Amino acid sequence: MKFTISLIISIVLFSLQSFGFTTTSKRTKLIVVISYDQMRADYLERFSPIFSQDGFRKLESQGSSSPLCFYNHVSNMTCPGHAIILTGCYPSKTGIITNDFFDTPSSCFCYCVEDKKSPVIGNEKQGRSPLLMKTPALGDYIKKKFKGSKIDAIALKDRAAILMAGQKPDNVVWFDWKSKGFTTSTYYKKPTWIQSINQSVPFNAYVNQNWEAEIPSPFAVEDNSIYEQPFPGGDITFPHSIPNIEDKNYAEAFLSSPYGIEYLFNASKFIIEQDKLGKDNKPDLLAIGVSTTDFVGHLFGPDSREVQELYVHCDRILADFIKYLDTTIGPDSYTIVITSDHGVSPIPEFAKNVGTMPLDAGRIDENSFVESINTYLNNTFKKLIVPSSWISVFEPPSLFINDSAIYISGISKTEIADSIAAFMIRQQGISHATSTDNLNAGMILPGWDKDLVQKFRNDIFPGRTGDIMFMVKPYWIWGSKAATHGTPYDYDTHVPLIFYGAGIPKNTVIKGSTDPADIFPTLCKILGISYDYIHGNPLDLTGKTSKDQQYQDLILKNPRIKNK
Ligand SMILES: [Zn+2]
Repeated sequence: MKFTISLIISIVLFSLQSFGFTTTSKRTKLIVVISYDQMRADYLERFSPIFSQDGFRKLESQGSSSPLCFYNHVSNMTCPGHAIILTGCYPSKTGIITNDFFDTPSSCFCYCVEDKKSPVIGNEKQGRSPLLMKTPALGDYIKKKFKGSKIDAIALKDRAAILMAGQKPDNVVWFDWKSKGFTTSTYYKKPTWIQSINQSVPFNAYVNQNWEAEIPSPFAVEDNSIYEQPFPGGDITFPHSIPNIEDKNYAEAFLSSPYGIEYLFNASKFIIEQDKLGKDNKPDLLAIGVSTTDFVGHLFGPDSREVQELYVHCDRILADFIKYLDTTIGPDSYTIVITSDHGVSPIPEFAKNVGTMPLDAGRIDENSFVESINTYLNNTFKKLIVPSSWISVFEPPSLFINDSAIYISGISKTEIADSIAAFMIRQQGISHATSTDNLNAGMILPGWDKDLVQKFRNDIFPGRTGDIMFMVKPYWIWGSKAATHGTPYDYDTHVPLIFYGAGIPKNTVIKGSTDPADIFPTLCKILGISYDYIHGNPLDLTGKTSKDQQYQDLILKNPRIKNK
């Protein structure tokens, strides 16, 4: 009998292993969530031939990954994206609707992590905290369940670190352009090591370095696209030089090069050591925001040699970091999650000129666009609103109608809103525009579908979202950056999602489509944490859930599809 049971167990274990469904049973000591700002999902595949076996490819092949991870909202910008990743909630709950927004109750046109009462150390005119984010994040739940867990975050951008860290983390640091080093604000307790981090990981370490191209010719893309913007203080082709410390471009140049990523990961290792992360059985969390990828992507676009070269370094630095975690925490004792806050569009001028068919692509200047709306309304209503404007805040994907224009003109807000929306969709490059009231009512207008209405609704936070919501056509962008993001098109929404390490099945592919909002409930499930109502769903990392079942779950449970 004993022989039979052990034989059955052996067969079952063998079967599971042969199908790759092995899971490390150890509980994780440290969860590291790494967000590569502006990383599109296709980069993993496109750059795979130039990646090593020990970085992204190791995490993908030895972890559980989702090739179909999409954001389900319109405002695909850095602030909302980083708020979604570890809260499991869209802007309709987090309140972080875009990078800068008007907050009606406080009459403040605010940066998403602005908090005047929490001065930044070394740059006291700025205040930073998660004040404007209305939901707790993973770190808050971990601290509640496991007394003694430590929650830290670091990024080159303050917004990435602050929004991933949640409401009551331990240490949160970011790069400050004024004090030229890592800092924090008075909202957080001051880390004992805040001085020594900038001695241990010095700002001036990269003076006069060169960023050389190294990808061999069969894989390397062209380096001379005329639509790119110049490297800080330099030009559009390799090598890119980091200047002297006195040069005004020094910080921007080194942070827009692989050296910026090295600097960030050296600082991350410093924090792991100082705060003894992963050293006991209480699970700790470290969120890392890799911002250099976004700086380089905006200048050179997703099809550039620079982005391709940068990801070789991302991969190498990640491989080194994995080795470091194996040594300091131990293999199978930590968990890594890889994702991004949004993707990016191609450079419109590049998209227009690639291939044989001319593509409808372009850019819209926001100021000229607002001016054209004002001219149109002045002519339509025969009322000149001087010196004011019909629009008080224009921040895609929404705009506020100026209350004083409504008062002075005597025309109802609904009539003005309908008139603006009708004007907007006749303009070049605009695909959709309607009043926020229509979207709130769930109205499906001609040219709209249910999914798109829901994506807009996921971005509506009362008091912060304006009166009209709108978006551009595919391959159209707002503003003058070479390439940017902020639409619901696949190039902006499709991002990587990889889980690896303790608690994660090995070598599995998650079935069906997933959402970065699923990261929070999936990690909660692994840690045995219960949570309040959110937008995401816990994922089956074994890859065994049938697509039909997952779709049924999506319909039944998911507010993105069906509103509760
Ligand atoms: Zn971003």
